[in-house]
Amino acid sequence: MTPIIGITSRQPVIKTSGGDLKAHVVNKVYTDAVIRSGGTPITLPPVSPGEAPRLIDRLDGLVLSGGGDIDPSFYGGKPHDDMYAIDPSRDEFEFALVRAAQHRKLPVLAICRGLQVLNVALGGSLIEDIPSEIGSTDHAVPGPEVVNCHQTVTIEPDSLVAAAIGSAEACVNSIHHQAVRRVAPGFRAAGWTSDGVIEVLDPDDHSWPILAVQWHPEYLAVENDEASLALFTSLVESARETAEVSNEPFG
Ligand code: MN
Repeated sequence: MTPIIGITSRQPVIKTSGGDLKAHVVNKVYTDAVIRSGGTPITLPPVSPGEAPRLIDRLDGLVLSGGGDIDPSFYGGKPHDDMYAIDPSRDEFEFALVRAAQHRKLPVLAICRGLQVLNVALGGSLIEDIPSEIGSTDHAVPGPEVVNCHQTVTIEPDSLVAAAIGSAEACVNSIHHQAVRRVAPGFRAAGWTSDGVIEVLDPDDHSWPILAVQWHPEYLAVENDEASLALFTSLVESARETAEVSNEPFG
């Protein structure tokens, strides 16, 4: 039995035979990484936040995927000219997924925007724009370079992410212009680049298997980077345990 892994989706406008229409999009690198790790991916389009607990009940694991910026009004932030693809309906649905996943201790892999969604959902805040506030310009390197690592992240050795990848250091890619400012209660910062930008969050309660990274392991995983693949296999292994418990026969 392969565990079912929900993956949150973007809603870009794409060209269709019916004209330019919004679509629910999950980059195939996510589904490839989940399948390769032994999971069965399922796309989660945003629906009413009230439906999130029932969806979480039917999943064995969750990937909070990357995408546009969170509406700054959700964390008391200020608008910034470089914010993009703000989608409050996606934000509110994903906040509800996080809270339901926390309640059930569902295994989660939170990637880039996903880490930021996790942080804001549980009461944290964000740096609205790294270049204008911190000055670093090497966190936003999109395009073909995403399959190569170029930043070193130092990771707390006793964190869930360090345990998953088997190392207290990782060479990572980076496609973000925002980062965690105030860490949500119940979590700690557990990984940083040399400029002090937070790249890993770790739960105080390690009985909730949640891995949260600011980089994009899905691109590196399909390029056979062992540490990146290990984040997905750790998620799927935790999800397999969830699936076995929830499918135990009655009596
Ligand atoms: Mn970065």
